[in-house]
Amino acid sequence: MTNAEPSIFTRIIEREIPSDIVWESDDLIAFRDIAPKAPVHLLIVPKTPQYANVVELAAGDPDLLARLVAAAQTLADERTDGQFRLVFNTGEEAGQTIFHVHAHLLGGGLTEGNLG
Ligand code: 5GP
Repeated sequence: MTNAEPSIFTRIIEREIPSDIVWESDDLIAFRDIAPKAPVHLLIVPKTPQYANVVELAAGDPDLLARLVAAAQTLADERTDGQFRLVFNTGEEAGQTIFHVHAHLLGGGLTEGNLG
C-alpha cells in the first residue's frame, strides 16, 4: 500500500529530484537507474504510488501492467537489439528497496550477474 512519505520515484516523477528521464506517457515513466547493472538499465515506473509491487499492480490494474510491458519492448527496440530482461524485485528478501512498483529493464550485453 501507499507509504505516508512519497517514494523517491514519486519525487522523480514530480521533478523534485533530478533523474535522466528517457520516456514517459500519461501513466508511466522510464529513467536510467542511478547504479546501472547492464549497458542499458532503465526503471519503468507507474506514476501512481498506489501499488507497492508487481503482484499488487497485476491484481489492481492489469492493463497498466500490460502497458508497462509494452513500453519495455519499445524501449528495448530503441536502445538494444530488442531483447531484454525485465525484473520486478518483490519483497525485501528479494532485493526490493523501493516499495513503489517498478520494472528493471536490462539489456545490451547481459550476463548471469545483472539480475537488477
Ligand atoms: P529495487 O532494489 O527496489 O528493485 O530497485 C530500486 C532501484 O532504484 C535500484 O536499482 C537503485 O539503483 C535505483 N535508485 C535508487 N535511488 C535512485 C535515484 O535517486 N535515482 C535513480 N535514477 N535510481 C535510483
